[in-house]
Amino acid sequence: MTRRTDLAPTALRRGIATVDDLRARSAIDPRTHCWHWQHARGPDGMPRIWTFDRRSGAKACLTGPMAAWQIAHDAPPTRGHLPYRVCGHRDCVNPAHLRLAANRAELGQHIARSGRLRGNSTEQRRANLVLARAAAGIVTTSTDVVDAIRAAPKHITSAELARDLGMWPQTVWRLRRAQPRIEVPT
Ligand SMILES: [Zn+2]
Repeated sequence: MTRRTDLAPTALRRGIATVDDLRARSAIDPRTHCWHWQHARGPDGMPRIWTFDRRSGAKACLTGPMAAWQIAHDAPPTRGHLPYRVCGHRDCVNPAHLRLAANRAELGQHIARSGRLRGNSTEQRRANLVLARAAAGIVTTSTDVVDAIRAAPKHITSAELARDLGMWPQTVWRLRRAQPRIEVPT
């Protein structure tokens, strides 16, 4: 991890304005590409970021996903949509790990699903890797993706997995049924 906390006080007062500002204040995980926020967090563990809120047109203290989304897009999220992290790391502010949920129910499903994917640490690591790759727009079905798809609990449907991974449901369905099972060293 790279830790960069050498900040000018004036920069902190001004607030976080750019993606570079977000990155500079985070510890970067070179494996998952998660940007772990190193500054203020709320009691829920979510980053609290002082930045320009495009919804109100004034500076405000926003949660990590809301701040990172607005900074990266220079716009508020689509009306009625909420940004969430596909990597499942509460303190991650990498804009590439954000997606928009259409409503709270969809967001709830995502949270429940990421909770269910959280098994042993190996499984968790695989799931995070897959989600980070999907968030970065990598859609090739590499061995780690195949491995993670096959490691996913059976009660998660192929359609749900496909949606999270940005893949065709048929591809996921076939990969889950393909034999023999390929064991990938970790
Ligand atoms: Zn992340």
